Amino acid sequence: MTNPDENPGAMKYTHVSADQNTSEADPILHGVDHNIPQETFRLLQRLIRETGILRETPALLKRMVRVLQDHIGAQHVIVFYSPVPSEGVLEYGACYPAITDSSRQRVLEALFFSTFRTDSDDLMKQLLSGQVLHLHKRQLSGTRLEDFALVAGDNYVILVPLLGPEGRVVGIISLLMAEDPARTHWPEVLASVSHYCATTLHNAIHHNEVVDNLATNVSELNILQQIDAELNATIRLDTVFQMIMDWALRFTNASAGGLALYDHHTDTLTLMGQYGYHDGRAKPGVTIPHENGGITLRVARSGMGEIVADVQLDKDYIAFTSETHTQMSMPIFREQHVIAVLTLESRKVNGFKDMHFNFVDKLTRRAGVAVDNARLFTETNRERQKLSHILSNIGDVVIVIGEDRRVLLINQSAVQALHLPANTQYVGLPIEDVIHLRNLLLLYETARQRPSGLRRELELPNGRTYSASLSHHEGVGTIIAMQDVTPYKEMDRLKNELVATVSHDLKQPLSVMRGYLDLLNMTNTFSERSQRYMAQLNIAFQNMRQLIDDILDMARIEAGLSLNIEQMSLNKVLMQAVISNRPSAEQKAISLQSELPELPEIHADESRIRQVFSNLINNAIKYTPPEGRVDVSADIQDGTVSVYIKDNGLGISAEDQAHIFERFYRVRRPETENIDGTGLGLAIVRSLVEAHQGEISVSSSLGRGSTFRVDLPLNLTEDRA
Ligand code: ADP
Repeated sequence: MTNPDENPGAMKYTHVSADQNTSEADPILHGVDHNIPQETFRLLQRLIRETGILRETPALLKRMVRVLQDHIGAQHVIVFYSPVPSEGVLEYGACYPAITDSSRQRVLEALFFSTFRTDSDDLMKQLLSGQVLHLHKRQLSGTRLEDFALVAGDNYVILVPLLGPEGRVVGIISLLMAEDPARTHWPEVLASVSHYCATTLHNAIHHNEVVDNLATNVSELNILQQIDAELNATIRLDTVFQMIMDWALRFTNASAGGLALYDHHTDTLTLMGQYGYHDGRAKPGVTIPHENGGITLRVARSGMGEIVADVQLDKDYIAFTSETHTQMSMPIFREQHVIAVLTLESRKVNGFKDMHFNFVDKLTRRAGVAVDNARLFTETNRERQKLSHILSNIGDVVIVIGEDRRVLLINQSAVQALHLPANTQYVGLPIEDVIHLRNLLLLYETARQRPSGLRRELELPNGRTYSASLSHHEGVGTIIAMQDVTPYKEMDRLKNELVATVSHDLKQPLSVMRGYLDLLNMTNTFSERSQRYMAQLNIAFQNMRQLIDDILDMARIEAGLSLNIEQMSLNKVLMQAVISNRPSAEQKAISLQSELPELPEIHADESRIRQVFSNLINNAIKYTPPEGRVDVSADIQDGTVSVYIKDNGLGISAEDQAHIFERFYRVRRPETENIDGTGLGLAIVRSLVEAHQGEISVSSSLGRGSTFRVDLPLNLTEDRA
């Protein structure tokens, strides 16, 4: 082990001297040779015992210098080490005993040596080749270790290089000796233990690197999480950029930084914000001329992030501050294009590491997403404003109530029609705080339960009549849209008035004609043929009579029906309606059945309700071919009685279903051609049902039959009752 020639991996030691012959001629050195293996063994044993379990670099270095000093008795033992061996910089690690002169101690702590480019430095070259050197401190002058002489005092120095597994220097142990080491066996002993020291130090450094990396990764992860949270909370473009720059400066310890927007159409950079430039940098918002674009413009054009380790060597570099040595520029993308470049500067040569580059890369990617979010928000906002502009300028009333029963949207027309105070914020308020119209609130409650939505006419506080359509949309809420139908209502009223007047006036001559027809019948004997003509005349009279009655009834209902509301039994009324229709059913051999549960009494106008069901049963019989069937049934749910009149007759097509409740609408099909009617029956029925706050609907399919359903509330609300 101790013979360097036999073992090329082991350390050699050399005495560097002005007089190269000194060491070879030294009798003492030769005289102690036989002690070396023993001494080496003892020192190694101590080192293993005391430092073998230490994993932390600072603790290991402290213990190492202490053991060496204690064992060898040097003035001071000092160790330099390379925290990142690949960087080739040795810095102060530990010293024992401490140097009492504080200025020397300060110099020592600030010392560092580069192990790169040592061609012109023989001393360093020898050390790097693994030779243990012993010399007098004056021999340090002119070498890279020159500054160490300031610390060494008037001592001899032993320098022990510690070479790691790949032959890289991981540290240097130096011993300051009062006595010339050439006269001792220590250089040889140290050369022998240096391998152990180097391996232990290398392992500790590696261990620390792993732990540091882990800590950096964890802290990076935490920072990125925090950044994500902060970026998510903002949709302002300038805030996003400001945050990105702050984080980049903080994490990379950059001394200055700037963020410039890049327009790829015009190939121009515009400064957005900057930090740390005391002089000459353009003001934010100012376009940066091409000749000043420098590395930043290069990165904007290439879309590739860069670290320039020494800016002085880069032809594109534009100096804004003389202190910069390293620059990092990173592009920010939106879709395929570079939209901005983040530039960071460091005062140190090689001031940014891969770790910083990776972090800033992640940061700018996030910025890209945040910028996209900000843009989407701006666009959505613009769309929303457009929509809100349209909504506030249309004459229709639009109100949207959210799932939480709070107002999501209310337009200007709604505010006016509901006589609400202007310039008040209604969005977010509960519906009851905004809408005080009882009927509208009731409609809203009903619409929430009904997926098909509903449509009603409603008079609003502005005295006008609106056709309100309410529909519930999952995930949005209830949309209330109301159209002012006052002019149509007025036209309708005038038309009805005219029809009613004419009908009324027709009644008189019709009675006269009827009277004379009866007289003719009584006073004459007609031939069989004339009797048939008289019968036809009679039917025509009946139909005309029915039509006039229906028109007048309709007119009465629309003029504001006065209902005679009282407690009434639906069971009784339904039975009466069935019984009164039984003869016509029997005539067509139609089975007319009713199966009714015990229904509670309701508040209603009995004769009008009878009219409703009588009419529906009559229709069912009328539009069902002979030998068909008509069933009347009912059930109760949530305070509403539903009555069903079901037939297996002609049925009604979907297009006709949409119109059958309109006045004078009759289905025109070959099957209905010979069936008499006025087209007013269902219009009257619907008006009567609605006057009772009920609803009528139909489900039918052509050729199979129809079911009419009437929903009536058990109790009417105040304004009706
Ligand atoms: P009409 O006096 O013609 O019966 P209604 O207003 O009572 O007028 O009915 C309108 C139209 O609806 C009728 O012309 C008829 O075609 C259709 N209709 C009504 N009830 C039924 C039913 N139960 N089955 C098939 N069609 C019906």
